[in-house]
Amino acid sequence: MSDPKQFIELEDRHGAHNYHPLPVVLSHGEGATVTDTNGREYLDLLSAYSAMNFGHRHPRLIEAAKRQLDRLTLTSRAFHNDQLGPFCEELARLAGMDAVLPMNTGAEAVETGIKTARKWGYQKKNVAADQARIIAFEGNFHGRTTTIISFSTDEVARAEFGPYTPGFDLVPYGDLAAVAAAITPDTVGVLVEPIQGEAGVLIPPDGWLAGLRQLCDENNVLLIADEIQSGLGRTGYTFACEQEGVQPDIYLLGKALGGGVIPLSAMVANRDVMDVYAPGQHGSTFGGNPLACAVGREVVAMLAEGTWQQRAQELGKHLHSALSTLDKSKVTQLRVRGLWAGVELSSNAPSAREVCERMARAGVLCKETHETTVRIAPPLVITEEQLDHAVAVLAEAME
Ligand SMILES: *Cc1c(COP(=O)(O)O)cnc(C)c1O
Repeated sequence: MSDPKQFIELEDRHGAHNYHPLPVVLSHGEGATVTDTNGREYLDLLSAYSAMNFGHRHPRLIEAAKRQLDRLTLTSRAFHNDQLGPFCEELARLAGMDAVLPMNTGAEAVETGIKTARKWGYQKKNVAADQARIIAFEGNFHGRTTTIISFSTDEVARAEFGPYTPGFDLVPYGDLAAVAAAITPDTVGVLVEPIQGEAGVLIPPDGWLAGLRQLCDENNVLLIADEIQSGLGRTGYTFACEQEGVQPDIYLLGKALGGGVIPLSAMVANRDVMDVYAPGQHGSTFGGNPLACAVGREVVAMLAEGTWQQRAQELGKHLHSALSTLDKSKVTQLRVRGLWAGVELSSNAPSAREVCERMARAGVLCKETHETTVRIAPPLVITEEQLDHAVAVLAEAME
């Protein structure tokens, strides 16, 4: 046991102030619960922004990591290792595609998708040098690199980091006509979150993803699905795109791919797209390392069983009906897909930050997104009873 204040003060004094965490200092985690330095337990309703879909320290994932820790952890890509090939084959099969390019963080997967689409445009679509354009969406979140924040519409994430990378066209999320109007002969990709997570779990209109697929087909444009937050079980499907029967040209994966144990991201595509690369043109020292691949293989094996997706669907229904009992005068909109919800608070309710602070004091950890949305994304191992308790705590925090 130790006083959480000392850790918060140290972080405040010596860490960069680029986050605004709730005043909780965690030291242990198991399943859907985490424990602070005083031994107090909390329910985790955030799952590290869906990096923790399988819960804290899932035995299969910890076991896979330990097995690999005792054998080999890093080789660089200067040599082969015996985990990378099987990981690529197994992940490609899960995605119904041919080929995988492993990286570490989500932002790197997105960068890889952008670079791939551009190279594909020059090689396969004869776009003139440096003219390739990619369509992205207002309210997007794709990570924090200078190129990615160049097409962010969040001024907090973007301001004072210029000069910005050109070559992106922004259109309203969910607006098919706007995408059609933005496509030019130089358009090489449409980069989309099937559900916008950071924007507050925004679900596009039915048929929109299928419409994007069709527009991309008609115009020889790559459909790039950023499923870093929406993918790998969260929505009740392996990929949120499946809900509309859509197969993109490129999947960008991250977060839960590393099982909450190690950073692991990947771009998945078919050979014709992946083969724009030749040796030396892209890479990463840690990308494809055997430790991450061993954990990733276990994640893929777990998802291949289908039970996680089913659990997300069933628990999602339960969560949806529980959230539907919240005071209607305090909630303007409820958006739920699988075990993932955005609760939009009205001006009658406290701010989302205040609600999350109150919930934390009551032992339930949530994180606001923007001023008015409480995002709920529990580990898929959570129980119905725990969900009911969490919603009761939320209801009280909204008083
Ligand atoms: C979290 C996230 C990213 C960035 O991932 P990092 O690992 O933080 O770089 C990209 N896209 C989406 C949709 C995300 O949710």
